[in-house]
Amino acid sequence: MPSLTFLGAAGTVTGSRHLLTHGDTRILVDCGLFQGLKNLRELNWQRLPVEPRDIDAVVLTHAHLDHCGYLPRLLLDGFGGRILATPATRDVASLILLDSAWIQEKDAEFANRKGFSKHKPALPLYRVADAERTLERFRAQPLHHPVDLPGDARLLLRRAGHILGAATAQIDIGGRRVVFSGDLGRYDDPVMHDPEPVPEADYVVIESTYGNRRHAPADPVAALGEVIERTVRRGGTVVVPAFAVGRAQALIHDLWRLRQRGGLRNVPVYLDSPMATSATGLLHRYPDEHRLVEGDYQAACDAVSYVRDVEESKALSANPYPKVIISASGMATGGRVLHHIAAFAPDHRNTLLFSGFQAAGTRGRKLLDGARETRIYGQWVPVAAEVAELPMLSAHADSDELMRWLSAFHRPPQRVFIVHGEPAASDALRERIGRELGWPATVPLQGQTFAL
Ligand SMILES: [Zn+2]
Repeated sequence: MPSLTFLGAAGTVTGSRHLLTHGDTRILVDCGLFQGLKNLRELNWQRLPVEPRDIDAVVLTHAHLDHCGYLPRLLLDGFGGRILATPATRDVASLILLDSAWIQEKDAEFANRKGFSKHKPALPLYRVADAERTLERFRAQPLHHPVDLPGDARLLLRRAGHILGAATAQIDIGGRRVVFSGDLGRYDDPVMHDPEPVPEADYVVIESTYGNRRHAPADPVAALGEVIERTVRRGGTVVVPAFAVGRAQALIHDLWRLRQRGGLRNVPVYLDSPMATSATGLLHRYPDEHRLVEGDYQAACDAVSYVRDVEESKALSANPYPKVIISASGMATGGRVLHHIAAFAPDHRNTLLFSGFQAAGTRGRKLLDGARETRIYGQWVPVAAEVAELPMLSAHADSDELMRWLSAFHRPPQRVFIVHGEPAASDALRERIGRELGWPATVPLQGQTFAL
């Protein structure tokens, strides 16, 4: 009898790692980093309860760090199998993993120089060379083409929306069909396609990032315009921390539409993230994977100034004129957006605008919860700027959209497992599934195993 073990994203939004076991076969679905609260981040340093060398294959739903960021460490610890993902996910993962490795190396170096690590010397979780070796293990697997996995298992990927390359994973193993939602995108999104329906499953593992929230029905472009308008009227700058892959490109498109409607006027827009700039190029390589028309998209990209080197980025922080700066990381946990926050947060005329989900423990969440100061590079920075949130710009389905995707199954699964959400969000979705669909649903705990 196959079994399913939850090794991450159980009761939290990060660290997605789900292990399917049948006989001697072990397939890991997603292999993400834990992010946010310190006790979660420390889990990245714990070895998995299963020997990585005993895992036969990894299936990757998409390339966000909380789904793929642990892969290089899995290899370091002995994993010898293939990593299956869509071609676009493989390309996005190469940006994300190399960037993650580079940050790990820099952080360790910084900690050693400043001597503030408990570990002497501080070590990176993995290095750039490890990320490069990881990329060699990828096998591109197109959507809608079933493929054999070790142990007579079979995989089928379908479109999930969300970000470039994102897929849901249907795995047949030991006579059971298990469907993993990965992260689901929004319906009728201007950039990404709708999540595709899945006809049947014995078990469904679904994300619940916004399991307890509905995105406001307001027109997102208009909402974005209002925030920018009032900031510019104050003579301020809007700083938008954005995930470099997905959100940054969607924002560029939203801002272009705003400009076409006569909003934004002469306010310049800067994209200050080299990774986001590279990710933008991937949209051109995979025209079938999104809804943007080449000409429109080129026009949207041309309306943005790209900031490449650090000196330019610092000059932008010192520029006093009203503008919009899009910069990573999305939860303001690192990256160039930090020096923009340090520069712009103390002045009430400016706005810090969050568009993606902010996990507990991240700087983004603390600011949204009303923190009036934030520690950046060891210095306390006062926060007088407006802090705004537009969750309808998020790449994640809201609770109605999660229910819509579930409702497309032709027959009830035996059980739905609810992952990738904070406890209140996961539990709200569990109740809703029980109430509206009458299906058994469970929020698994970290480390819990279920016989299927
Ligand atoms: Zn994601």
